[in-house]
Amino acid sequence: MSNITLHWKLSHIPEQAVKKHCKMCGKLSIFTDTNVRRHNANGKSIYRFAIYKCEKNHTWNKKLAIYKTFSEHVAEIGEQNDESSIMSNIPITSLAELGVKVIHIVLDDVAGKHRIDKVLANQIEDWSRSQIVEKIEKGTILLNEQVIKPSSRLSKGERISIFI
Ligand SMILES: [Zn+2]
Repeated sequence: MSNITLHWKLSHIPEQAVKKHCKMCGKLSIFTDTNVRRHNANGKSIYRFAIYKCEKNHTWNKKLAIYKTFSEHVAEIGEQNDESSIMSNIPITSLAELGVKVIHIVLDDVAGKHRIDKVLANQIEDWSRSQIVEKIEKGTILLNEQVIKPSSRLSKGERISIFI
């Protein structure tokens, strides 16, 4: 296997803000959802967090859900389900180990405005935003087979190609 194709629907995720006391600032601050999600394993439980940041960039991890792991399945026992995003994070490193050379992402639907660098930075945990920007500029990440700017907006029907 040398390439895979993913289908994405980009939804309009409104920025969520929460008023909360920031320990670092020592005052009530407005924390904004970065849309970054993180999983932490702790024994037989997996915690899913949303990363929020205050105006001064201090981080707050909001717990979203707890998953219990059993031998075979993973069952969700946690509170609310968060955003109804159907996208899953791209495990770039694991895919590279499996011999994947190119990942194609077909945008089946796009609602709202989405910059390519931001979307990819949110979905690829193994690569930082600056690494993604560099790859877009070098042309190892293409949009519709063309070199584009990191700030390019995505539209329905377009195709992103990532050369690992
Ligand atoms: Zn703060």
